[in-house]
Amino acid sequence: MQQLSSSLKTAVLIGLCFIFLNTSLTAQDSYSVSFKPDEPELVEVVATIRLQDSLLRMSNFGPIPENWPKYVSNLKVTTPEGKSVKVEMQDSARWKLPAFLVNTEVLLSYTLNVDHEKEKWPGGIDGVAFVRPWGVMLSGRSLFVMNGSNKENISVQFKVPNEWKLSIPWKKTNASDDSYEVPNLIELQETLLFAGTHKEVNIPSGDFSLKFILGGEGILEQEELYVERAEKVLKYYIELMGGNPVPRPGSELSTAMVLINQSEQVDGEVIGNHLSMFLNPEADMQNQLIGWFMFAHEFFHLWNGKTLRYNDTTTDWFKEGISNYYTLKALNQTGIVNEEITKMVLNNLFYQRYRNDAGYGTMAPANAASGFDKDNHWGLIYGGGLFAGIGMDLEIRHNTNNLKSMDDVMRQLYNEYGGSEKTIDQQRLIDIISEFSKTDFEPFFQKHILGSELVPLERYMPYAGKEVSFDNDQLTIRASEENSEKEKEIWQGFLGNN
Ligand SMILES: [Zn+2]
Repeated sequence: MQQLSSSLKTAVLIGLCFIFLNTSLTAQDSYSVSFKPDEPELVEVVATIRLQDSLLRMSNFGPIPENWPKYVSNLKVTTPEGKSVKVEMQDSARWKLPAFLVNTEVLLSYTLNVDHEKEKWPGGIDGVAFVRPWGVMLSGRSLFVMNGSNKENISVQFKVPNEWKLSIPWKKTNASDDSYEVPNLIELQETLLFAGTHKEVNIPSGDFSLKFILGGEGILEQEELYVERAEKVLKYYIELMGGNPVPRPGSELSTAMVLINQSEQVDGEVIGNHLSMFLNPEADMQNQLIGWFMFAHEFFHLWNGKTLRYNDTTTDWFKEGISNYYTLKALNQTGIVNEEITKMVLNNLFYQRYRNDAGYGTMAPANAASGFDKDNHWGLIYGGGLFAGIGMDLEIRHNTNNLKSMDDVMRQLYNEYGGSEKTIDQQRLIDIISEFSKTDFEPFFQKHILGSELVPLERYMPYAGKEVSFDNDQLTIRASEENSEKEKEIWQGFLGNN
């Protein structure tokens, strides 16, 4: 009897320990971020953090992550009893805390100095952090000092001046204030936010919404045009794919945020599902076009890249090249480009980059994206992939009397892979293109994707009633002497009209 009661006691004790351990492990980290209207470049952060280890760190993401801590000052840590703790910089990326604090909760405070623009960032300042007369743009990477690796349900509260508003893609916990719950540390870092007097426009589509942030006088003057075009592109993609972007289980894709800030230079960067762009409303047509091309290309990745996911980089030609093809179709659909500009872009941008790629004629597009080669072989992947996509689409249309097209391939892949853990490999692409084109596409892949031979556009474009020439290394597309109804229809399909 005594034995029983003692083991019962032990069980109760163990149970209590578990409850205690559990509550201590699941205690949420919470951040409070405050902006000041008169000193927008100084952002104050206060946080309560349950230490999983003795290091404080910032994001590993970005082109030079070791630079993030440079913009953090007055970093202070205090124990729950209010005792201040010594914090040492361990290396350029981390701070070290005394080991005895592990598993305790500490209070952290620091100032973020938003003067990142003082130095040059590879890829530009657009995805980093900057101050403009109409507010402050921050990436989660630049803002948060974190601890541990498996934090969940992090609560973040923002305090913005009365005349300001905050735009962020997260879901509010409370309708009445700027409080949010962030599922994990990745989501915390891979976000963008804008606090200021900017304009926010939401474009909803069922359970998905596109959040447009517009900043700068010239941009606001063209608000209607920007929103109308974005709406058209969104509508085109949803109809094409047969639905909204669907993420893999456990990840979030309900809001995509697009920030458009006025700037001299046109630029753009993607962080997570979000896009930060610089547009110059006064720039020439070509510059405007680059901006819109960037928007439509990156936006399509929510489907081709985030909904359809791939095994490895050997299918990057499909992810990037097919996205370019649909970008061109979307821009035709919205009236941002016309037939003439489409032909010009095909030559000036894609054929020229393809033709002048260092791997032209020797490297297979499937191998061009391995390791860090993606940027070195832009022409092969983005241009070569686009031309392969054109060949496939036109072959399918030609063989099916224009009843089927690459659109059907994309919808089929969406149904098969959207919202699942499954990823697409090269063989699946060979099979599905063969199925829809009613042709064995294995030889095409061997030659043009797994091999380095050029895609013979002169073979495929006549299906759309167009003649192609490569005189003086220029891709010229001209209407054939006579076009059949079928060819005319296929050309309309090429432009995204059917
Ligand atoms: Zn891309």
